[in-house]
Parts: sequence; structure tokens; C-alpha cells
Amino acid sequence: MFNSTSSLSPLAQDTYSGTFEQIDMHYVSLNYAEKLWLAWYTYMQNDILATGLMSLAMHEAVYFGRSLPWVIIDAIPWFRKYKIQQHKIPTKYEQFQCASLVLLSHFTVEIVQIWGFHPFCQFFGLDTSVPFPSITKMAYQIAIFFIMEDTWHYWAHRAMHWGPLYRSVHKIHHQYSAPFGLAAEYASPIEVMVLGIGTVTGPILYCAITRDLHILTMYFFIVLRLFQAIDAHSGYEFPWSLHHFLPFWAGAEHHDVHHERFIGNYSSSFRWWDYVLDTEAGPEAAKRRREKKIQSAAARKKVQ
Ligand SMILES: [Zn+2]
Ligand SMILES: [Zn+2]
Repeated sequence: MFNSTSSLSPLAQDTYSGTFEQIDMHYVSLNYAEKLWLAWYTYMQNDILATGLMSLAMHEAVYFGRSLPWVIIDAIPWFRKYKIQQHKIPTKYEQFQCASLVLLSHFTVEIVQIWGFHPFCQFFGLDTSVPFPSITKMAYQIAIFFIMEDTWHYWAHRAMHWGPLYRSVHKIHHQYSAPFGLAAEYASPIEVMVLGIGTVTGPILYCAITRDLHILTMYFFIVLRLFQAIDAHSGYEFPWSLHHFLPFWAGAEHHDVHHERFIGNYSSSFRWWDYVLDTEAGPEAAKRRREKKIQSAAARKKVQ
């Protein structure tokens, strides 16, 4: 195992490519991605800065990179037939205003969290060394983190719909009754922090208990969670949307109704919490609730 810390400083060069060449020569057993990773930490000579810059770049690239296809889709009338709330297409100005606030929040509130990420990970023993863990291990750990995040999200989000919390915190996120990709992180800094805690608490708890988590697994989880949040806000429902194949997956259809009706559908990735606790939103859920009422009223009459 090779530690990605400054102990490898003799291999550090003036440029990243020079450092990579040194790593490439000395660590032939590593794969290409592992060499890139090790060269980055060796070149930076400062783990906090190396992780901080990498996290920030990753967050911006993934957030805006994933939102861009939705901006393009909004501009193409052919896609209108798949839009859930067809009459509410975001204007260019709305998209620009939304992206500006999200950027402002990334470079003020979130930068502090991102910078504190490495010391935090080190404290809880997250692994940053190479070689990387196996794909299977990463996959089952990420599945566990998704289940944990969804649970946190359900309760925190439901709590934020309580009057005083809604008015002081969550209202900003509900500015758009028909959401679009860029609006995923359009929220009060308090909300960003509370939901952000939900994203990192699962992996941190898991690592504290098992002492077996690589920071790369955490990165993959955060990237997939960003994809999930942006897609859930896209406002589009396709015949090939994931929830048609995985019925418990929430997707855009689930969250769009939440923005439209302001009530119900509180979870992020899965549908089970809303189903079990009867907080599903939309006309179908209302119909089911009505039928249930009629049935229980009929049952009561029979007993009498
Ligand atoms: Zn809400
Ligand atoms: Zn939302």
C-alpha cells in the first residue's frame, strides 16, 4: 500500500506531469488512475489543499456538467412532450439567476465545508492510499450510503415543511414550483448544510464502525448523489426513466409533484419512506387514500 502523503516528497517535481512521470517509473504495479491520484497528492505536498481543490473542482464540474444537458433539453421543443409540468418551462433569466445563487453558495458556505473535508476524513480514518478498493466493495458501500442518506433526507425535509422552519429555511428551495436541473442546490445555506450533513454522516458512521472506507468511494457516492438530486429536479419523465425498472427509485416524477403541491414526497432517492408513512403526494396517492377511507367506513358499518 502506498500512502498518498508528503512522505513521498523525493518524487515531487516542479510540474504535475513531471511528478506523474516519476510515479509512473517507481510504481509500476499501480494502474493509470491510481498513478494519477498518487501523483496529485505527491505533487501538491499538502493533503488538505490537494483534497480541497480536488473536491471543489469535482463538485463544480459534476454540478454544472450534469445540469447542462437539462438546460439544452429545456431549449428544444421536441422534448416538451416528456416535461411533467408542460406549461412551466424555465426562462433563461430564471436559469441564470438560479445558477448565480448556487455558485455564490458554493464559493461561500460550501467552500468552508469542502476545505474541512480532508482533516475530517483523516480524523475518522478514511483511507487515501493506493491501490483503490475493489468495484464490488465500492458498490455495496455506496448502496448502504444511499439508503442512509434517503432516511436522513426524508425526516429532515419533512421537518423543514413545519411552518416556522418552512418560512425561515426551506421556502427558498420552493421558489420554483416546476423545478429544473440547476435548482437542485438552490436553497438556504442552512438547508444546504443540514442536507449536506445527511450526505456525509452515512459514510463517516460507516467508517467509524468498520474502519474500512476509501475516500474515492466517498467521491463516487457524492457524484452519484449529485446526479440523483439534479435528475430529480430535471422536470422530465421519460419512458426509460429509472423508476420504471426499479419501482422503489424516486426520480423526477416523485420530486416534481413535491414542488408542484408543496406537500408529501419528502424522500430523495427511494419511495419507501413516503409509502410506509403515507406521505405520498399526487392524484394517485389521494385516490388510494380516498378508497382506503371508503373501505374502512364500509367495514365499520358491517360491524355495527
Ligand atoms: Zn420541500
Ligand atoms: Zn427540490
